[in-house]
Amino acid sequence: MVCENCGRNIPQELIWCIPCLSQFIQEQIEPLRPSNTDESCQALYPEAINANIADYIEKDINELLDCLSYELWTACVVMSARILETIVRDYYAAKIGEEVPINFAQVIKGINSAGIFSAQFIQLLDELRELRNDAMHGERRFSPDESISTCKKVLAIVAFIANFRD
Ligand SMILES: [Zn+2]
Repeated sequence: MVCENCGRNIPQELIWCIPCLSQFIQEQIEPLRPSNTDESCQALYPEAINANIADYIEKDINELLDCLSYELWTACVVMSARILETIVRDYYAAKIGEEVPINFAQVIKGINSAGIFSAQFIQLLDELRELRNDAMHGERRFSPDESISTCKKVLAIVAFIANFRD
């Protein structure tokens, strides 16, 4: 198989090569700010990758981008947490096993044992999982910086996971 963006040879399970994906994250996800998020999931992600994002996740991403443009910081983190959990659980069900553990930490452990993602990626999932627990506690509010950085991390994870062919 070849990268759909640059034509380089890549493993058959991927849509874009990792250098193209990293460049996309640097150029499209990293610069996201409330003032420039009047875009949609469809406009944000490359077509071939967007085609691999389930409709219900796409709708949540559109809401997340709206929350970001309206500077609804805590809502951004709550939506990010929901998107993260959904995409990771879907990935688990599709690639690892139909019986997805109820406990999200166990889901991440299972993905880790499959050995597909780097230790750094798994660590990021774990870090965001803790933030998700925080987001569910009513008294916790999130600052603009925390919120924007969480959105960007989750949107990058979506790109990485959706870059695996079904
Ligand atoms: Zn490429």
